[in-house]
Amino acid sequence: MDPTLPPDEQDTLDAVLATYAEQGVAFHAVRSRLSGHRRFISLHGLVPGAWSVSRGHDLVEQLEADIRAALADLDALSVFTHLEPLEDPRSYGDTRLDRERPPAGPSGPEPAPPGLPSTEPATHREGPR
Ligand SMILES: [Zn+2]
Repeated sequence: MDPTLPPDEQDTLDAVLATYAEQGVAFHAVRSRLSGHRRFISLHGLVPGAWSVSRGHDLVEQLEADIRAALADLDALSVFTHLEPLEDPRSYGDTRLDRERPPAGPSGPEPAPPGLPSTEPATHREGPR
């Protein structure tokens, strides 16, 4: 298994995230991985749900730039961010690598909210198998 970032680089990342926490942005599922010479960082950023898509995108763009600048001596760094609303309980059920399946009640799994893809098994597939 690939190791995480070394402790000094993890401290640098934590310091960057702390500056955003001061602004009311929360983080979880912060993960890092070293694979060969490439570093990978992934995290979930939780912001007020009333923020516009543009505001949230501006935040993660700036965050990713700040992480890159703080770890500027690294030549191969990939940062993945996932933005979530602070108020949505579903934002807190995804901190593990593998998401748990929702319990299937008498009527089956909960339908996906409007606009989100359904988790129901596809009964009709297009294209060749
Ligand atoms: Zn999350």
